[in-house]
Amino acid sequence: MNFEPSQKSQDYLKLVTAFMDEHVLPIEQAVVAHNHAKNNSNDWTTWQLSEHIEPLKTKAKAAGLWNLFLPDAELAQGLTCLEYAPIAEQMGKCLFASEIFNCNAPDTGNMEVLYHFANDEQKQQWLTPLLNGDIRSVFAMTEPDVASSDATNMQATIDVDGDELILNGKKWWTTGLGHPNAQVAIFMGLSNPENDKHSQHSMVLVPLNTPGVNIKRMLSACGDFDAPYGHGEMEFNNVRVPKQNLILGLGKGFAIAQGRLGPGRIHHCMRAIGAAERCLELMIKRGLSRSAFGKPLLKLGGNLERVAQARMAIDQARLLTLHAAWKIDTQGVKHAMTEISSIKVVVPNMLQMVSDMAIQVFGGAGVSSDFPIASFNAMGRILRLADGPDEVHMGMVSRLELNKYR
Ligand SMILES: Cc1cc2nc3c(=O)[nH]c(=O)nc-3n(C[C@H](O)[C@H](O)[C@H](O)COP(=O)(O)OP(=O)(O)OC[C@H]3O[C@@H](n4cnc5c(N)ncnc54)[C@H](O)[C@@H]3O)c2cc1C
Repeated sequence: MNFEPSQKSQDYLKLVTAFMDEHVLPIEQAVVAHNHAKNNSNDWTTWQLSEHIEPLKTKAKAAGLWNLFLPDAELAQGLTCLEYAPIAEQMGKCLFASEIFNCNAPDTGNMEVLYHFANDEQKQQWLTPLLNGDIRSVFAMTEPDVASSDATNMQATIDVDGDELILNGKKWWTTGLGHPNAQVAIFMGLSNPENDKHSQHSMVLVPLNTPGVNIKRMLSACGDFDAPYGHGEMEFNNVRVPKQNLILGLGKGFAIAQGRLGPGRIHHCMRAIGAAERCLELMIKRGLSRSAFGKPLLKLGGNLERVAQARMAIDQARLLTLHAAWKIDTQGVKHAMTEISSIKVVVPNMLQMVSDMAIQVFGGAGVSSDFPIASFNAMGRILRLADGPDEVHMGMVSRLELNKYR
């Protein structure tokens, strides 16, 4: 095992850290205030983009800090999962920063799907504009009417009709659907019910302006619409797309999903570790600078132990995640399933705990939007569900563990 960051990784980390300090963190409050003032309603058609984000994207692109997540030396900088991990941690220190570097979910996961599994025509039509940051994409798998933790439950349908595919069904929690630049969905549906249960579903590219694609509403998550991205509920009513929009082939949905989620989980987890680091930093600075009962807040009650607990929990989570990244790079996603599922449980729980400690030290300010801690706390909570709940991942870890004793 070797987690030592390569020189290339260190160089990019230095550049991204400087960019964050110089350009991103100074506008954090302005962007949050904009989103609350202009976008604080469920009417996503009125949401506006902050004037700060697009110019910073141009700057990041010009500085070569663009698509750093993609392990391709021609289309991007060719960083491995392990090399990109500390950079994702830096981006995680601010909720919206990864978008500025074109490294945000769900676009990164969708770009990876297209990069690995799409044909040349599909790449040209959708991957190129996504890599350029000209458009945004969504991933439509989860359904309101079935327990979607079990992806074999998905019942929206894909029927072949000559040269076309017909899609029907409901989807929800489609993240990014409210964004004005969202143009394409990767839709997962039941196409081959006659096959074994892991070969029944397929993935199809659906332009969001196709007739029959209806956005019903945006859902609030922990009381926030997460504008201007949003989490949408949508209906597909006899949506017709050309057969060439099928990715990889009929019945290949699960195979694609497996490939999509490995590196994506490293990215999510490293960003969450960055968020936890930020919470700890804010908690220490606040706790040392405010006093009650004649002492700095941090020296009251069990607060110093909480600082130690937070440091230990963050460092454990980081080591586990870097180990998972190293295993993906050296042995492939299939051989890193225990590690990938482990971090998916450990890291969001750690973020929830650390951000909760920080909220407590901050007092009332901790739950306000004057500081990012409450949003990070919600992010930790949400990540314990999104991309599969804790229990499903623990089930995976225990299954693989027991397999050793067969
Ligand atoms: C903010 C947010 C963003 C999301 N973004 C997207 C997106 O962009 N695209 C998308 O397709 N989906 C997205 N999701 C959906 C997410 O992946 C699902 O919510 C998740 O997979 C769980 O499915 P479900 O909500 O249907 O819960 P259910 O399947 O109904 O499960 C409910 C609960 O049952 C329990 N449970 C389930 N399985 C087991 C088990 N094996 N053992 C023990 N207990 C179990 C768990 O406690 C679980 O939380 C998002 C969700 C959220 C909250």
